[in-house]
Amino acid sequence: MQSKPEKIMPAKSLGILGGGQLGRFFTIAAQKMGYSVVVLDPDKQSPAGKIADKHICKSYDDLGALDELRAYCTAVTTEFENVPAETLQYLEKDIIVRPSSKAISIAQNRINEKDFLKKCGIPVGPYVVIDSIESLSSINEKHKIFPGILKTAQFGYDGKGQIHVNNKIELETAFKNFKSVPCTFELKLNLDCEFSIVLARTFNGDVMVFPLIRNHHESGILDCSSIHPNSIAEILENHAIKLAKKIANELSYVGVMAVEFFLSTDGIFVNEIAPRPHNSGHFSIDACVYNQFDQQVLTLAGDGLKKEVTKFPISLMLNLLGDLWFRNKNLKEPKFRMITGPGINLHLYGKEEPRIGRKMGHITILGLKNESQKDVSKKAEAIRKILWEN
Ligand code: ADP
Ligand code: MG
Repeated sequence: MQSKPEKIMPAKSLGILGGGQLGRFFTIAAQKMGYSVVVLDPDKQSPAGKIADKHICKSYDDLGALDELRAYCTAVTTEFENVPAETLQYLEKDIIVRPSSKAISIAQNRINEKDFLKKCGIPVGPYVVIDSIESLSSINEKHKIFPGILKTAQFGYDGKGQIHVNNKIELETAFKNFKSVPCTFELKLNLDCEFSIVLARTFNGDVMVFPLIRNHHESGILDCSSIHPNSIAEILENHAIKLAKKIANELSYVGVMAVEFFLSTDGIFVNEIAPRPHNSGHFSIDACVYNQFDQQVLTLAGDGLKKEVTKFPISLMLNLLGDLWFRNKNLKEPKFRMITGPGINLHLYGKEEPRIGRKMGHITILGLKNESQKDVSKKAEAIRKILWEN
């Protein structure tokens, strides 16, 4: 149900599918505004479930759980795109679901996503769909798509569900490794940089855009993100913002959405859409008056956006992966106590078990008065050194 323009008043209940760190920040934002929050997540230890007013600890396709959610909540959103489309359609029958099942079903499948983007005239990098042995055999080196990356159409995140291949033989092996599930095969682009645009769009089509975020990935996982004035040429930034807005409008999107971009010598390409707040937007928690989760709550509740946003126009966010916990096994936790100081904000997500590649928290470093982007980068390097040295 998308057609209820009236505002949902606090202390009504808002629901969220998924209780990871994004759900946790949503819960914090919603509770701060006076809403109650119901989290649906099958994990007993889920970071958002722990702090929500109610945690329904059942799977996403459990009809009993969905009925319970419907009974408590006027509106529901999601923290991840892999919620089954049927779940959202079921909820949509009589409560507000934002973003819509349609928008999420496009973003949750790389083939649908690329199709949709192309139809809208949005530039995407060279790719082919591989969904059968026949489609695989039609590919040859003439396609100029090697070296490339085979990506499963669904359920990939943080570089998972991706294999880098150099030639046809490796491609065949990779496809078999993925048990021949539908995939996209993309040319590996020579990237100048990666960046994202995070925006919020209301039911009425009103849009606010956060500052452009420069992203650096390591092994397919976001390592750090930064904002600062003129981080890319203004003409490119304006073009990217236009593209992101176009995507949101074409989807009649309601909620917070992130668009990941590649900048290469051949121009700007959209990599993928996240139909939710995004890891790269975490700077906004400390740098903005209203962060990406506040805007998620406002759009879900049918309220107006808050457009006065950035208190700190220079900031940098470092992701803290579980790897750090294995770095020095003599310590109970990384040396967080040594990382203090004005403008340095540590966030831990309440996950009990650190694992390699698991996002455990992040640190945001704010550029304080008179501090330049260089100063902030230097602080970030010093922090990395402390945390990573044995
Ligand atoms: P995920 O859903 O895991 O975020 P992405 O498609 O965004 O998947 O890939 C993760 C990262 O891998 C990207 O941010 C980028 O660093 C790298 N990558 C993915 N596709 C390409 C490509 N076609 N060319 C170059 N690098 C790529
Ligand atoms: Mg990505």
